[in-house]
Amino acid sequence: MSWGTVIGQQRVKELLQRAIAGRKVAHAYLFYGGEGVGKDAMAMEFARVLNCEKKQSTACGECRSCQKASQLQHPNIRLIVPLPVGKSEKSGDDPIRVLTEDQVSSVQEQLRLKAQDPYYRVAIPKANFIKVNSVRFVRREAAMSSFEGGTNVFIIAEAEAMNAEASNSLLKTLEEPPSDSVFILTTSRRQQLLPTILSRCQLVQFDPLSEEEIRGALISRRQVEPEQAALVARLANGSYTVAVEMLSADMVGEREGVVLFLRLVLGGQRVALAKEIERIGSAGDRSVVVRWLKMLQAWLRDALLLRDLGEEGMVAADPTAELNSFVSKFPHADLPEALECVERSIALVDKNVYLPLVLTGLSIDLHRSLVPRR
Ligand SMILES: [Zn+2]
Repeated sequence: MSWGTVIGQQRVKELLQRAIAGRKVAHAYLFYGGEGVGKDAMAMEFARVLNCEKKQSTACGECRSCQKASQLQHPNIRLIVPLPVGKSEKSGDDPIRVLTEDQVSSVQEQLRLKAQDPYYRVAIPKANFIKVNSVRFVRREAAMSSFEGGTNVFIIAEAEAMNAEASNSLLKTLEEPPSDSVFILTTSRRQQLLPTILSRCQLVQFDPLSEEEIRGALISRRQVEPEQAALVARLANGSYTVAVEMLSADMVGEREGVVLFLRLVLGGQRVALAKEIERIGSAGDRSVVVRWLKMLQAWLRDALLLRDLGEEGMVAADPTAELNSFVSKFPHADLPEALECVERSIALVDKNVYLPLVLTGLSIDLHRSLVPRR
């Protein structure tokens, strides 16, 4: 079991393994990169290795320490996440004890899910930032020696969620790091961290996962059908977490929605199209619209592959009847241009441009590129 809980990220695994073998583990790391690429998973695995009783550069997975670490129950390993603020919480209060019973059980449940799947996105209601009291707790704990000769590991997930007070408190600890302690900050928004914090950490960049890595993990970890795994992997943008979240979405229904939209665009049916745009735009959640746009992109890419390379060129799935009929009816469609249009729309949605405006513009651009004037 060599760092097998982490999907891909071979370069980072080797970097950390070399640090362990050469006894050059840094006091503080910042793991940064996109969401859901395995920063927390790597931090948790690293923490497990640093505390394994076998003292190798991989965790044995069997000793008492490894067992406890796998359940996030190891006294030397603490995972710090954003928490709600307690009613009349004062500086110095225990960050957990100030919460209501319901909040405490929600935190416990979320951490249990995280232990089960390190790629799980922790979501605690009203937890908007990492409290200064959580960082003070870290400072107190770090001042004590670790259990059984292991290493105290503090994983501060979503480190950008520390407010100024929490950041400054952590900074003091990073400036005089206690021995046998390792701090691992993880973030997908590195630019939101204080430069003084960055300068105290060894920066470790995480790359997006490849489609193949995501596809393989979906099949082996979640027993997803190969065809669905391939489709989801293409749409997940390098994030295993996003891929897993997409599994519970209605992918088939959404793909049908994409086909309907294209049919209206191609047919120039303005009234029905306006209605459809209103429906898509009313999702409210921008990430849903982005996913929809990526699905549209995937469909157009399939059409391009089918037209230029034939059926063998299609990696993911067999061509559907709609794809075949599109390719035969619109042989001169400018598909590369259409793909560009969708790409631009995704950028606009990211910039918070009004959704109906983006989608209307897209429908006009798509009509122009897919139905060339004679
Ligand atoms: Zn072990």
